Amino acid sequence: MKDAPIEAKLLIRHGYVITMDDAETVFEDGAVAIGANGRILAVGDDAGIAGRCRASESIDAHGAPVHPGFVECHLHASYQLFRGALPDQLVESDSFDSFEGHFYNAVTDEDEYLSVLLACIEMVRNGTTCFMEAGTVLTPEMAARAAREVGIRAVLGDAFIWDQPQGFAQGKTDAAEGCATCAAQARLHTVLRRAPQTKDEALATLGKQILRNSDPDALVTGHVAVLGLGTASEDLMMQAKACADAAGVTLNIHQSYSPADTEADRRRFGKDPLVHLFETGFLDRNVTFGHANHLTDTECEALLERGASIAWAPAASMMWGHGSSVHGRHAELWRRGANVALGSDSPNWSNDFDLWRQASIAVLTARDVRMDRTYLVAEDGLHMATRAGARAVGLEKAIGSLEPGKRADIVIHTLDRPEMVPSTNMIRNLFYASRSKSVHTVIIDGKVVLEGGAFRHIDERAIFAEVRKASQALLARMGQKVAPNRLARPLRSVG
Ligand SMILES: [Zn+2]
Repeated sequence: MKDAPIEAKLLIRHGYVITMDDAETVFEDGAVAIGANGRILAVGDDAGIAGRCRASESIDAHGAPVHPGFVECHLHASYQLFRGALPDQLVESDSFDSFEGHFYNAVTDEDEYLSVLLACIEMVRNGTTCFMEAGTVLTPEMAARAAREVGIRAVLGDAFIWDQPQGFAQGKTDAAEGCATCAAQARLHTVLRRAPQTKDEALATLGKQILRNSDPDALVTGHVAVLGLGTASEDLMMQAKACADAAGVTLNIHQSYSPADTEADRRRFGKDPLVHLFETGFLDRNVTFGHANHLTDTECEALLERGASIAWAPAASMMWGHGSSVHGRHAELWRRGANVALGSDSPNWSNDFDLWRQASIAVLTARDVRMDRTYLVAEDGLHMATRAGARAVGLEKAIGSLEPGKRADIVIHTLDRPEMVPSTNMIRNLFYASRSKSVHTVIIDGKVVLEGGAFRHIDERAIFAEVRKASQALLARMGQKVAPNRLARPLRSVG
């Protein structure tokens, strides 16, 4: 029987197509046909598809890898304007007072728009086609506008769903209790003027982004973000969970990031945080925990039983010395079947929005800490960045793999990079050598956003110029002088 003809809008030919489907199918000389509705029509051998496909546009991948776009699962998209401003000697308990607090009182809607615009440009250039924002853009519509302009898929949350911004462990926040981070959070209470201060204010905001989901074709959708780390009462957490359940979306919350906030949560719950959340029913399949760097054995079992996701941000932990590569259970949980996705956090935590870097750190540190080369392989990293990411943001039916019916969020690399020569094993060369450096063309929702390294619809350099100007003005309004690093060892003369 002859296969039916395919009427496509776009046809990708001669790609090394890494589908990330359940069977991990790879087509060494593959093709992907995309329909006018932005969905994938067919994936398979080039010879089998090209002969029966009529397409108005076609792209030749010249043998280079083609894979599903990466899904960024933990991102603060509005801090771009002070990227790199925090000096290395700054301790985390001072960062809120020195930077974030001033930032939130000085930032304008236009700043947020420019910041997210820059973040989106960076993500697309690095092969990320979807991101979930952590619920910290004060005017989410600015993030939506920026995402739509760049053409990236976005999953937004309402800003600062919290009702006890004074911080961790329900009032047990003074430094005398041994938690400097809690004490710093406590000072935020009077600082963030545009964020909710009470439960009623938080509840009045909660669920607004979900209204975006009424359009089944929306590029920008909503989820429920709760800031977490002790800033939400249990009542607010449960109301947020009910809201996410009713809408069938992900609930995304920071959890067990540093030893200090984990211990503060342990004090307020009277037991390991995830064990308590398991017992109350909060811990569930639609919950994605940002970081989760410090989990006990019992918490790991609870997480596995309920099937919750983790957005692991390995570089952020390394940047601030929180020990996720040494003490984190992410790789072990992954091997046991947990859904571990990846996140870049923010422009002073891992500083770049490049999931290739996160995936690489995740795989390599997991091996190093166990002194076992076989512990995780390159494909594990690819899976975390695609399939696991799609599930962590609640879009596993729509994205994460190249299969008929899914949205066409696709990254095409180039072999014209020294790191991709020779291509003895395409996946190993891609994962260990070229990573985001070989990203060439990016398609999101069936539309070509980045083509041969250039954006089709936006003037990147003009945006960079505006961001530079806005950053200077913002830092001046924040009253911040950007200090150099203090050297870790004294200068000494050589000779
Ligand atoms: Zn975060």
